[in-house]
Amino acid sequence: MNYVVDFEGFSVKGFFVIKEFVVASIDSEEKNHFILNSPILNWNYLRSKDRKSINYCEKYLHQIRWGTRGKHFSELKSFLNHKLTEQDTIFIKGSDKLKIFCKQINPKCVVKDINDLLSYAQVSKDWTSKAKELLALVPNKCPLYFHKLNHHCAFVKTEVFAQILLDLNLFNQMQDE
Ligand SMILES: [Zn+2]
Repeated sequence: MNYVVDFEGFSVKGFFVIKEFVVASIDSEEKNHFILNSPILNWNYLRSKDRKSINYCEKYLHQIRWGTRGKHFSELKSFLNHKLTEQDTIFIKGSDKLKIFCKQINPKCVVKDINDLLSYAQVSKDWTSKAKELLALVPNKCPLYFHKLNHHCAFVKTEVFAQILLDLNLFNQMQDE
């Protein structure tokens, strides 16, 4: 099976805290959507830089609160490691996200950067304008959270990324290799 993954969260002390995580199938309608607990932190020990960045994300980016409760990270990890096998492929956009995902989840499946596929197919310019267009068009329909902008919702982004991979036929090109 082929999946698109995206997530949103906070970068604290050089570590990425995942708050919203989505794994959506490209081959079917299956979507798995998680809101996760934040780790327990002593706020007094946080650098003001980290506190400011948390506030900024809460107010202006994904708008998920640090204190929002959800599932424990270990539940997500065991769900994914149970689900994904060597035969599965995950598509994720951007090398930073890909690294965070692999480091924290350590999945058995193949993980590919959507940006690499796009540059391979020489569609990076089309991609940017098309993605922006699509993200603006999708009505805000995150089932778990209210985000002001679609491009800060992991759920909406996986839909758009999957659609673009299918539209641009990148997915098939890759499979033909
Ligand atoms: Zn969302």
